[in-house]
Formats: sequence, structure tokens, C-alpha cells
Amino acid sequence: MLVALDAPLLVIHGGAGVEPGDLNPQQEADIKAALSAALRAGYAKLQGGAPALDAVTAAITVLEDDPHFNAGRGAVFTHDGRNELDTSIMDGATGRAGAAAGLHRVRNPILLARAILEHSNHVMMVGDGAEAFAREQGITLVDPAYFRTESRWRALQRALQKEKQAQLEKRPLVLPGRAYFGTVGALALDASGNLAAGTSTGGMTNKRYGRVGDSPIIGAGTWADARCAVSGTGWGEFYIRAAAAHEICARVRLAGVPLPNAANDVINVDIPRAGGDGGAIALGADGVVAFPFNSGGMYRGWIGSDGVPHVAIYKTDALEMP
Ligand code: ASP
Repeated sequence: MLVALDAPLLVIHGGAGVEPGDLNPQQEADIKAALSAALRAGYAKLQGGAPALDAVTAAITVLEDDPHFNAGRGAVFTHDGRNELDTSIMDGATGRAGAAAGLHRVRNPILLARAILEHSNHVMMVGDGAEAFAREQGITLVDPAYFRTESRWRALQRALQKEKQAQLEKRPLVLPGRAYFGTVGALALDASGNLAAGTSTGGMTNKRYGRVGDSPIIGAGTWADARCAVSGTGWGEFYIRAAAAHEICARVRLAGVPLPNAANDVINVDIPRAGGDGGAIALGADGVVAFPFNSGGMYRGWIGSDGVPHVAIYKTDALEMP
């Protein structure tokens, strides 16, 4: 799915991994409404002349607050029954970045990533240290129970059951398959032609040992430079090994590959060839957009000069063009 649009422009995803039949009509409507609300919130910033970073932060904050997505409230559970959040943000204009992993108490992880970008000398913080910095920055901390949803809890119980069964049958542990689902990301092109990218996630259901995926890793799950911005969603280990987000933009910048081709080659060729799967959104400074993914769906959308949110869930859903 490719489009070329005028700035300002905002593109979002709410995660790959959904398959037809997974959602009832009410859930589909709720997800589309949440994607539209996120697009409107981000686009309002761009229309007001704010930088791309503000639009990315605003859109992701809305998705983190919505329990349908695997980010903020509604995040998936770890093996130990906790919610452990990862996030990152990058400013294409300056190359500055902020990221945090292993969070249990930060209500909106993307706000912490932004604070790390703007108010620290570091790029990435983890766990207690990251939360201490959040406290210093006046970022809202919540009781960890805030993130809990029953559907994610049930998903963990199913994963644990499967794992137990595999152990009993002395089978190798089954691949995570659709253990990923609902990570959120946003890319913005502001009126000055600058790009930004951000991603936020609870990671993968049943993750353990402090596992960190691609989403908080600059270059793996998130990248923005002067020409190209990417946010990924999928089986994070493969995105890290491929340095997926950076790889897409490097092919655009260094090899002159058109952005949709670069995005498609990395997401739909290289990652599946290595054994992984997932999706991404990619946005060029020229307004070219790509939404590659290899599951049955990816929550996704864009908003441009007509100010109308365009959203889709399944592969077969067309994203209306202006
Ligand atoms: N990429 C994320 C991770 O591996 C999961 C996702 O995109 O849903 O942590």
C-alpha cells in the first residue's frame, strides 16, 4: 500500500499480528475509533505548527492510554505476570533520540523517551533508573496494576499452558508465533519538512529474563533521519538482528532505493527469510508512505491535508487515498 502526500502528515500503526476473525465488530469499531483519535491528536499539533516530535508524542500517548493496544494500559504480560514497557523516539532533524526499557510504573512511556531525548545526556535508560529519572522529570507514575487488562492476562495464561504442554511432551518450545500484537508507533512529517518516529510496546506475551525487543532500540524498532522515518512491529528479535528500521532508511539514503521498496524488502523479504515476521510503517520527507506487513492485518492509518483520519485493520482493507 503506497501513497505520496503533502506535508504535514502523520502515519501510525497499532501493531501487526491481527488475523481476520480475531476481532468482533465492536472491537474493530473501537480500534478504528482509537486510531482515528490518535491521528487527530497528532495532526492537531502539526496543524498548529508544532514539530514532528510533538505529533508523534501526542498520537502515541492516545494509543498508550487505550487498552486495545499493547502499549501503556493494555500491555501484554511477562512470564512473571508483570507488565514491562519499552519505548523509543527519534528526531530526524537533529538525530537525537530517547529510549527506555523495562518500565513498570510510567503511565506514558513515550513521554519518558521524549524527556530522555530532551533533558538528559543519554539515549537509553532501563528499569528503576529510568523510573527515577521519570520521577525527577515530573512524569506521571502509576501503580503497576494500572496496566492490567483481563484479556492480556488470559493471553498469558494460554501461553503458559502451551509452554507447560510442550514441556510435558518434551517438545521444543513452540515459536512465539502471534505472541506479538498491538505495539504502537507514529511517524510525522511537519510543516518544516522534518521527520520524527516513535514506538511504544509491552513487548511479547510470556517474555522473561528481562527480555527487551526491538521497540526501544534505536535503529531496530525506531529510526528517523532527514529523509526517512520508520516504526516497526513484529517479532522483535528479528528486527534487532536486521537493524530493521535503520536498514530501511540506510537503503533509501545510501543506495537510493525508493522508500516503499526498501521497506518491503526488509519487512517482507529479509525478516521472513530469517524466520521472523511482522510489519512497519515508513514515511519519506517527500511524503511517500509505506505500510508493509506479512500478517493478516496491521492496525494502521494516516492523516494529511484533508484532516480526515484514514484507518484500516486487515490486509484486505483498502486505505482510502485523497
Ligand atoms: N516488536 C515488539 C517486541 O518484540 C512486539 C510487537 O511489535 O508487537 O517487543
